[in-house]
Amino acid sequence: MKQITTYCAVAAIMAIVQPSGVDAQEATRPNILFIFCDDLTCQSLSCYGDNRHLLDTPNIDRIAREGMQFDRCLVTNSICGPSRASILTGKYSHLNGFYNNSNCRFDGDQVTFPKLLQKSGYATAMIGKWHLGSDPTGFDYWNILPGQGLYYNPPMITKDGRVKSDGYVTDVVTDLSLDWLRNRDKSKPFLLMSQQKAPHREWAPALRHLGWNKDHQFAEPETLFDDFTGRSLAISDHDMGLDRTFADLDAKLVPPSNMTEDQLTQWNAYYEPRNLAFRNANLQGRDLVRWRYQRYMHDYLACVKAVDESVGRILDFLDKEKLADNTLLVFSSDQGFFLGEHGWFDKRWILEESLRSPLLARWPGRIAAGAKNKNIVSLIDFAETFLDVAGLQSDSEMQGRSLLPLCKGETPSDWRKSLYYHYYEFPVPHRVRPHVGVITDRYKLVHYYKPDVDDWELLDREKDPLEIRNFYADPAYVDTVKELHAELDHLKIEVQETAEPPRSAYGNALFDGEPGPDKPKGRK
Ligand code: CA
Repeated sequence: MKQITTYCAVAAIMAIVQPSGVDAQEATRPNILFIFCDDLTCQSLSCYGDNRHLLDTPNIDRIAREGMQFDRCLVTNSICGPSRASILTGKYSHLNGFYNNSNCRFDGDQVTFPKLLQKSGYATAMIGKWHLGSDPTGFDYWNILPGQGLYYNPPMITKDGRVKSDGYVTDVVTDLSLDWLRNRDKSKPFLLMSQQKAPHREWAPALRHLGWNKDHQFAEPETLFDDFTGRSLAISDHDMGLDRTFADLDAKLVPPSNMTEDQLTQWNAYYEPRNLAFRNANLQGRDLVRWRYQRYMHDYLACVKAVDESVGRILDFLDKEKLADNTLLVFSSDQGFFLGEHGWFDKRWILEESLRSPLLARWPGRIAAGAKNKNIVSLIDFAETFLDVAGLQSDSEMQGRSLLPLCKGETPSDWRKSLYYHYYEFPVPHRVRPHVGVITDRYKLVHYYKPDVDDWELLDREKDPLEIRNFYADPAYVDTVKELHAELDHLKIEVQETAEPPRSAYGNALFDGEPGPDKPKGRK
């Protein structure tokens, strides 16, 4: 009797959770395919139209052409791990606990959108770069790169332990993603997070892309030799410049690790004659920076070419399997990147190049083809968007907002007009001082506050799109500064960061007056 009662209770619950026609419902619930890159910046994608015209990305552009291109998808802490944690949880770093790449480990017990999708009946998979320290949770299947991962023949980690792989990392991640799609449980809708390592430093190209530009010279950014006049010490005293920080591995004066003998032979056939010419030229000063910029662009953009080819393979698969119509395809990156602007590579800053991620979304019939959106959106919106697409309630602690109305061409009247930003990790790597700020369509108010600076800056993108001037002390901006201070105070309360961050938020390195190799030499 007890058994029957239990069965009846279970059946009654099942009837609520899975109403009649469940198969039909499962078949029509949209799939979510999230293609995610590492350090991929808008300037490298032809759909975003950088005036240098650095690269053609026809497959990525196809997503934009067939869906919506977001012009200002902004990150809240421009660095790899924190962005990934914010995407999964829909929360800022100070609430999900992942502040920096130095000493943080993701707490996988938290509520994440993959867990909620999995619980609701989605088949879930995470393939490629994870970079959160702990093992993935909320996935039926995962196959990830350990840490940063290697470009060549990268070891991978699955639930069953470490496995070998052969070939170029972008191709490996794409092959695994397509294998999972082919062999997935087809009775369920799917969530696939296909996450590329590329084009992360050290920007090692695939062999097939060596010399892709035929030694054509890339246009330089206007600010390649920014002298930081009138700016905070926080900006000028960096360690991420092409003039000072570019290592031999960055310059490909030494090859990347883990190549086979045959791969290394092909690699050297391209780089060695060029490296010999470089060494013989004994370049100095601006000539050296210019050479490094050209080498950097060849390598970084070659990595993006491989990503673009992978996107093409995935798009072809969706077409062939007739999955395109019922799949929300989202393409993005964990932040932007500097391609020589201000003389920099890397990210971290609230400045536009690293603040902005590419974001493209295609869902035929639901998102108009060729649509553009200029609203301020953020990676913290992704969790709630994916849950909304699946017809699920978001978790009440999530801090973003579903992008689905925007995708349908409807901007809610109370859509955000400003975004809170906070970067923590200091001093290594790259000696970018912690800063907090507020971003609007036009302005940024920034406070560089540790350890040896207490500087405010006001950036005005309308007057100064290159972001090379500080208007904070300009009398013409008195009212603007006042308004933005009030907005920053308001946002701190809204996002619940009113207390000082814990010491550990800044990483493991020396700090707060402790003497060390990165101890700043004083204000200029
Ligand atoms: Ca990154």
